Amino acid sequence: MLEVPNINSKDAKIKKLIYDVDESLFYKDDYSNEEFEHLCVCSGGTTSSCAKNGFTTLDLRKNYNKIHLDRKTNLVTIGGGVIMGDLVNHLQKHNRSFPIGLSKLPGAGYILTGGVSPLSRAYGLAIDNIESIKGFLGNGKFISLKKNQINPEEQLIWEAIKGAAPFFSIITEIELKTIQSNPIKVIEGFVNLNELSEIIKLSEEFPENISLQWIYAQKIYIYIFAELNNLEDKKTEEKLMPLYKFPALEKKLYENFNKINFFPKELNLYELNVNNHSEVISLLGEDLKNDIPIFIKCLSEIMENKPNNSCYIASQQLGGKTKKLNHGASFFVHRKSTWKPWIYASWKKNDLQEKEVALEWIYKSWSKIKRFYPNIHLAQLHNHLNSHEEELNLAFGNRVNELKTLKNIFDPQGILPPL
Ligand SMILES: Cc1cc2nc3c(=O)[nH]c(=O)nc-3n(C[C@H](O)[C@H](O)[C@H](O)COP(=O)(O)OP(=O)(O)OC[C@H]3O[C@@H](n4cnc5c(N)ncnc54)[C@H](O)[C@@H]3O)c2cc1C
Repeated sequence: MLEVPNINSKDAKIKKLIYDVDESLFYKDDYSNEEFEHLCVCSGGTTSSCAKNGFTTLDLRKNYNKIHLDRKTNLVTIGGGVIMGDLVNHLQKHNRSFPIGLSKLPGAGYILTGGVSPLSRAYGLAIDNIESIKGFLGNGKFISLKKNQINPEEQLIWEAIKGAAPFFSIITEIELKTIQSNPIKVIEGFVNLNELSEIIKLSEEFPENISLQWIYAQKIYIYIFAELNNLEDKKTEEKLMPLYKFPALEKKLYENFNKINFFPKELNLYELNVNNHSEVISLLGEDLKNDIPIFIKCLSEIMENKPNNSCYIASQQLGGKTKKLNHGASFFVHRKSTWKPWIYASWKKNDLQEKEVALEWIYKSWSKIKRFYPNIHLAQLHNHLNSHEEELNLAFGNRVNELKTLKNIFDPQGILPPL
């Protein structure tokens, strides 16, 4: 058993637990001859793919957990098993920060799969802030790559590490740019569907330092997140003004990003409920513009059809700097995206019938909102689900064949999760 936040993985009866990346990892014979068995890698342990029944897990949390901030360059080096909460807590001691996501629990998987933060509109995705990496390819070869010092033959690997690393590599060290830690204003609270519609409209005109995130579980809860350059940031205040008319929204001022906890207990989310197993699928799309009313109608229908109270849909806003390519090409190919919604459902573990119904709701809901959000953010690997192939194609678009080539060359035995 592995102590991890994801309950599916926590309950898995794993074959073997290992802590070090050494040669023996790459002997295919160490895995059974079952066709699909591969090595599961665990960093934050927040997904259903870091441990599986009968599979071996490489747990990076014990031996790849160092964090070091270089005070001269303000670059931070972290191990491949560091969780985002520990990273921002370390940085905060030096008044620095990093665009982590809505939870402090995810590990390096957050960074390597793209990394969408409430700060991304101003600072880019997590992958846009990678300066260098160290690790191993699936064939056991050690790699050390540094931005601006990449040979032509390493270029494709470097680009694919940024967004698709889990399929062909084990990353043991990542060097990241950090940012100045600034105060944050959050406007948050419950809203109804009409108010959500109005707020989405306003948010599609937000400047880069403001982002909207909303979650529709039993009720709808929103967060408008504004990074202030100083406590008297008048420009930001002006932009936030139209939001003050919504009666249930509260204004809160936080000294820094670390102090914010998204998803309060009152939302009764099932994410960490030990009796449930769950899956989540993340989508990508552009501004809704005139489609906001149709989208709201679809959302309402989806929520009317939810099979149990665990089900929710949420969305976070990207855009701004994430649309720019000046950090170099990557395998996060849907750069035009400005929204990342995700659909979550859980079921009583071992209740296969409830599982089937919950997954069916996820897929039906996905097909309903696909017209607005046609692409995938592959933040969770779903090689155990039927949607895997479609998700791969929608996540990597016209780069999926390059990824398959990389996998063939650098993980020929299929030691790492399959494509
Ligand atoms: C509560 C919550 C909130 C979230 N909020 C956001 C958000 O705001 N923005 C966002 O973009 N995402 C968000 N996510 C998604 C999350 O970032 C991804 O699911 C991420 O992949 C989880 O990484 P992990 O290290 O915690 O997971 P793990 O389960 O440990 O790892 C998942 C997989 O990633 C691969 N992997 C992890 N580390 C490495 C490594 N060092 N080398 C090679 N492969 C590796 C492995 O294949 C592994 O099985 C959230 C998830 C949760 C649970």
